Amino acid sequence: MKRYKTLLFDVDDTLLDFKAAENYALQKLFNEHNVVLTDDIKHFYQKMNQKLWSSFEKGEIKREELLHTRFSILFKKVGLTLNGVHLDNLYRQYLEESAVLIDGAKLLLQKLAKQYDLYVVTNGVARTQFIRLNNSELTTYFKDIFVSEEVGYQKPMKEFFNHVFEKIPHHSADKTLIIGDSLTSDIQGGINAGIDTCWFNPKGPMNVTHNPTYEIHRLQTLENMLLTPNSTKETPTTHSVLTF
Ligand SMILES: [Mg+2]
Repeated sequence: MKRYKTLLFDVDDTLLDFKAAENYALQKLFNEHNVVLTDDIKHFYQKMNQKLWSSFEKGEIKREELLHTRFSILFKKVGLTLNGVHLDNLYRQYLEESAVLIDGAKLLLQKLAKQYDLYVVTNGVARTQFIRLNNSELTTYFKDIFVSEEVGYQKPMKEFFNHVFEKIPHHSADKTLIIGDSLTSDIQGGINAGIDTCWFNPKGPMNVTHNPTYEIHRLQTLENMLLTPNSTKETPTTHSVLTF
C-alpha cells in the first residue's frame, strides 16, 4: 500500500447516513403540512433532487436555484402551493436534527486520525454540514472542513480541490487519497485533482463508469488497508476491489 499522509473524506453516505436523515426530514416536513408522504412521492423527490444536484455538480445551476425550488415543486405535486425558501429552511432544520452514522465511521476516524491528517470535503450546505458533523461528534477528528458553499466551487471541480490543497500545509497530491460514495463528485473530483481515489460502494456490484484506484464495500476495509502494520504491498495501479 502506498504511504498516504492526507485523507479527504466525503460526508453524506460515506460517514453520515444521508438517506436516514433525508427520510426523517422529509417525513417531518410532510407531517408539518398534514400531507401523507407516500413511497411514490418520496421516489419522485429523490429522483428530482438527484437530478438537481447533478446539474449543480456540472455547474449548470446555482445552489440557490436547487434549494429554493425543489420543495415548491414537490408540494405542487400534492396540490399545495407553498414557498420553496421557507420549506427548504424547515427541511434543513429537520435535517440538522438527524445525525445517523454509517456503521463503523466513528471508530475508523478515531484510529485513522492518529496516523493521518483527515479533512472533510463536502458539497453540502455549510451550516447544515457543520451541525451534523458536530452532533455526530466527528468534528474533532478533522484538521479542517471544506464545504462547497464556502469554497465557492464544488466537487468534482478542479478549482474546489485547488482551494483545498492551498489550505493544507505542505500538501502533496501524491500522498493524498479521497474517500467517497459518489462516482460523479468524489471519484471524478479526485481524478480531476490528480489524486488517488477510494470508492465506497456499500451496495456491491454496479456498473463502473469511472476508474477509482480502490473500491471498498465496508468502511472497516479502510482500516485494514491503511492501518495494517508492515503493509508494503505494491500500489494497485488499476481499479482493484479490496476485500479484506
Ligand atoms: Mg456522498
